[in-house]
Amino acid sequence: MLRLPVSGERARWRPMTGEDDIALADCAPGLLGALAFVSRSVVDADDRAIDAGALPVGDVDVLVLARRREVRGDAFVAEGTCAHCGADVDVSFSLAAYADHLRPRVPRGARQDPDEPRWWTVSAGVQVRVPTVDDVLDAAAAEDPRALLLSRCVRPYPLTAPVRVVERAMAALGPTLRSDVAGTCPECARGVLLDVDAREMCLADLRFLARAVYDDVHLIASAYGWGSDEILRMPTARRRRFAELIVGGAAHVLEEVGVG
Ligand SMILES: [Zn+2]
Repeated sequence: MLRLPVSGERARWRPMTGEDDIALADCAPGLLGALAFVSRSVVDADDRAIDAGALPVGDVDVLVLARRREVRGDAFVAEGTCAHCGADVDVSFSLAAYADHLRPRVPRGARQDPDEPRWWTVSAGVQVRVPTVDDVLDAAAAEDPRALLLSRCVRPYPLTAPVRVVERAMAALGPTLRSDVAGTCPECARGVLLDVDAREMCLADLRFLARAVYDDVHLIASAYGWGSDEILRMPTARRRRFAELIVGGAAHVLEEVGVG
């Protein structure tokens, strides 16, 4: 069970099936895709589906990173280009350390509202809350995204405090997992900063792995004659194991006849 850093809610990934893998393989990129993935497969402490749209974006980011760590481990490689010489640069880092570095901080002097814990008093008479996924998606479709976010997440509105004060407070209380990661160019040895959108990169990784479901269904249906619905309802781990056995069995047979 994870404790989400921004909202403090508790949540976990339920075991995946092939149906989840199909949904993931076909989900949209960006926050909308992350929302669909998390809504479908993350549950709360009582095993109920969570309202992922009501979570701060940073919490959805942490959930996606946690899933990627479960499936492929903690080590991550970001790829980019050296701004000085144009060489390809890889920077390796730990996803856990990255998320820890970007954990929420309470701005100096800020106080949590005792009755409404999502709201924080950040300066005299001014309160902010961290934008949720729904807020950000609505803002993206609005004529003036920034005004929409501020109108929902700051009170009173119109603002009575400088906009930089409230925006800085929101960013500290609810950081997202997009940040620069420092590395060194292997060619010219100068410092390189890569813009890492960790949630999006992890989601792309998970989506790529989930696409194995199509090959697996084909293999298992061909080998055992089971129906695709039956195969898709299997837990992902069990389905992968059957597919590996079939591929391994084929390799073994080829080896025996001297082809492998
Ligand atoms: Zn370079």
